[in-house]
Amino acid sequence: MLGYLLIILLLAIIIANSLLNLGRMTRITNVILSTDQQALALEKQMVDSFLSLVRNAQKYQVTNDQAFRQLSERSAADFREAIRQLLPKLLSPEETALAARIQNSYRGYSALLEKALDSLDPEYLSPTEREAKDKNAEDVTGALNELAAWRQQRITDETQELRGIGSRAILMVQILVAVSLVAAAVIAFVVTRGINAPLRKITKMTTVVSVGDFGQHIALDSPPELAELARSFNHMSDKLKQLDEMKSGFISHVSHELRTPLASIKEANSLLLEGARGPVPEEQRRFLVIVEQASAKLMTLINNLLDLSKMEAGMMEYSFSLADIRPILAHGLKGIEVLAERKGVTLTSLFPKTLPKAWMDINKMQQVVDNLLSNAVKYTPEGQRIEVIADIYQPTEADGMEKQGGLHLGVSISDTGIGIPPEYQARIFDKFQEIKRKGIPEVKGSGLGLSIARNIILAHGGRIRVKSAPGVGSTFTFVIPVERRREPRESSGEKDA
Ligand code: ADP
Repeated sequence: MLGYLLIILLLAIIIANSLLNLGRMTRITNVILSTDQQALALEKQMVDSFLSLVRNAQKYQVTNDQAFRQLSERSAADFREAIRQLLPKLLSPEETALAARIQNSYRGYSALLEKALDSLDPEYLSPTEREAKDKNAEDVTGALNELAAWRQQRITDETQELRGIGSRAILMVQILVAVSLVAAAVIAFVVTRGINAPLRKITKMTTVVSVGDFGQHIALDSPPELAELARSFNHMSDKLKQLDEMKSGFISHVSHELRTPLASIKEANSLLLEGARGPVPEEQRRFLVIVEQASAKLMTLINNLLDLSKMEAGMMEYSFSLADIRPILAHGLKGIEVLAERKGVTLTSLFPKTLPKAWMDINKMQQVVDNLLSNAVKYTPEGQRIEVIADIYQPTEADGMEKQGGLHLGVSISDTGIGIPPEYQARIFDKFQEIKRKGIPEVKGSGLGLSIARNIILAHGGRIRVKSAPGVGSTFTFVIPVERRREPRESSGEKDA
């Protein structure tokens, strides 16, 4: 608002200045047109009338023709009328003095002329009187010329003043317009930046919240409208966090409540299978095996849900020690061997002979490897390949941990399977993510495996990412620091380290 007011103020100054100058120029032009030009015309007319008076008087004296006398009297009347009109248009004391001189000399001349004309005798006037008459006549014309010269000078001066005002006004407008343009550009820049910077902040935070990082706040005090938007955003973010916590709490509670009866079902079922209540006919055994498998699956799902709830609440306990990753990977590969063989999927692994031990929770790391390998075998069609590589690794910008020093361990699990569409790659590590693939039958899963894997890797101070192309395959890579770290992690799930 202040910026726009400043521009309006500058415009008002330009307009006021232009109007002021135009007013002054109009006033001067009016004086020139209405007073000066008229006065000049009157002065010229007086010269003409006086000369005509003198000439006609002389002609009358020579010819004694009454017409000339009348003509001379009309010229005298014209002269007197002109001087009457001129008097109010005189602007300086010098001009008024000249006018008084003209009137005096004219009166002197006129009295002597009357006398001479009445007598009709050229010798009637004494030589002194004749001389005085001629001198008066000369004085009238001389003073009239002086008066005209004064007026001419005034017109020249006023025209010059007009020119001066005009060029000063143009310069002033040019300066003010230049200042206004610069001010408008600066104000537009400042105003736009003042809106864009907070908008960028809001957009960035919206992206953060949209990927599930709730409870984030935007600190914005101005401009007021955007500060209001930021406050609403913060409120929404808090509410989302609250809801997310409520949902996690609910899942955790329900899972917990389900586990005890399920454990009883499993236990009772295995007692029946073991023949604790007498021999089990083959037909019944088949059903009991189905119950056993289903309850094992359900138990895994419930355990995964509980694990994830604990990790998200920062309650998961880790027990860290220095361990070799190779046996963990080998154990994971062994776990999918039968399935891979059945599908005709080739398993290969590439580990260096010596690999430093890294600071990890062995069981949790096994869980990560098992999750990644079971996905690989699940989403890789018959006759394809799965490859596991582990080595010393230098983190890059893509890992989001390039500034960390020290040794790192990198593990990648690649498959030549169905791949993951690009639009899903950023969110498959979020819980309950399912991918709809065109033309590929859906493989039912819980959508928890990758989320648990990411939580565990983050708790190790590491990062996990995926590189994948549909129809070509996927490579999941995780990187963990070899040494124990003490700085805060993205997940606060670690209790031990
Ligand atoms: P799920 O239990 O559903 O497999 P995950 O969290 O382990 O849950 O995986 C999430 C989704 O990511 C899966 O539904 C699957 O579509 C996709 N995915 C995971 N690993 C692979 C892989 N190796 N190849 C193709 N898609 C995969």
